[in-house]
Amino acid sequence: MFWDNYTETIDRISLQKLQLKLLQKTIERAQHAPYYRALLQQEGITPDTIRSLDDLRRIPFATKDILREQYPYGFLAVSRDEIVRMHSSSGTTGRATVIFHTISDIKEWASLIARCMYMTGVRKSDVFQNMMGYGLFTGGIGFHYGAEQLGALVIPSGPGNTKRQIMLMREFETTVIHIIPSYALHMIKAFADEGIDPKKDLKLRIAYLGAEPHSEETRRRVEAAFGVRAYNSYGLSEMNGPGVAFECPEQNGMHVWEDSYILEVINPKTLEPVKDGEEGELVFTTLKREGMPILRYRSRDLAAVYPDPCPCGRTHRRITRIKGRTDDMLIVKGVNMYPVQIEKTLLSFPEVGTNFLIILDHKDYNDHMTVKVEVSSAMFTGDLKTLHNLKKAITERLRSEILITPEVQLVEPDSLPKTEGKAVRVIDNRKQWG
Ligand code: AMP
Ligand code: ZN
Repeated sequence: MFWDNYTETIDRISLQKLQLKLLQKTIERAQHAPYYRALLQQEGITPDTIRSLDDLRRIPFATKDILREQYPYGFLAVSRDEIVRMHSSSGTTGRATVIFHTISDIKEWASLIARCMYMTGVRKSDVFQNMMGYGLFTGGIGFHYGAEQLGALVIPSGPGNTKRQIMLMREFETTVIHIIPSYALHMIKAFADEGIDPKKDLKLRIAYLGAEPHSEETRRRVEAAFGVRAYNSYGLSEMNGPGVAFECPEQNGMHVWEDSYILEVINPKTLEPVKDGEEGELVFTTLKREGMPILRYRSRDLAAVYPDPCPCGRTHRRITRIKGRTDDMLIVKGVNMYPVQIEKTLLSFPEVGTNFLIILDHKDYNDHMTVKVEVSSAMFTGDLKTLHNLKKAITERLRSEILITPEVQLVEPDSLPKTEGKAVRVIDNRKQWG
């Protein structure tokens, strides 16, 4: 049941001792990076002045902006000869940041992924189809190495080309997939178009959904349509990528691997820690990385820590689903909301298909929100006008979730733009108004 029995079930006191030791080691390593050499010296921080985990708070936060300023080598803590791989964040919010790994970093990262996969029941006998992007993005190669370390057969299919994906699943009896949630929803329709019922015609049993915010409703839909157990997988390239936090078989929160990362949850305004159970911004410190240690990285991702231990026996704390990033928050007519709230509401209607788009405009000195919603192909009779009641019901339910009334437009199945990578859920035309 455990990939690494000792580490996964370590008691909290021993875990904290281990974290302190690794933190001191990390600071020693960080002192070799140009950025940290100056910063730590200025703050008077050396490994031996870090006497408890509380001392971590003496170290200033790292942010995406600092990583950008230090692009490309300011955080590099080893000579360039030691570096064997570079990755980059998807760069949806400005210039990308780059991360460098040594051979040992790659092995450590792969072993975290192997741990996640093993935890959810994957074994050597499994066939793993990795439908995530390969390349600078960490989702594809990150999982690839983890699955190989575990010993599964890896099919590096990458994203897109849905017909070929289905062919591979069929011919090689794929049992486990790794897929972007918005693409998984899209595949549900593709199965229907191909006349395939995955539950009967395929051998799938596990799906990993990650890389973008998604709701419990999305998970349940994917589970029902694919005939799998679906697990939430969270990570960010600054902390390697996937393998930072992962759901266990309880499917109730994601364990953050605290032997590899220190997790803090802070109020993004006051920067003070929040209590367990309260939502805040996740802040991570790498504990094992050699090539590019990062201390107290503000992820901008919002979630809360579960206050109670997990029945699975793992002692590493769990976080809730990610609500969104602080910079994903939409302010419409003065009301704050996250796209995932809209996703959750829409997918609670079985009549709703697999894609939607939020469009924000500025009209007559006022914000205007349009939500375009694909209806499900099973429901669609060729005439959207007959679906007046559905449109009304969706509008009502959205209003009670987001507290404003959007204009809901039902559109035909498969008519909204799709992406192979992370979904684009929002088009904000208000930006031109400054
Ligand atoms: P990147 O570094 O480009 O791979 O992007 C990492 C970001 O993707 C994270 O900071 C999150 O905002 C988002 N992300 C990754 N996995 C998940 C997940 N399981 N749920 C929600 N958001 C996620
Ligand atoms: Zn658990």
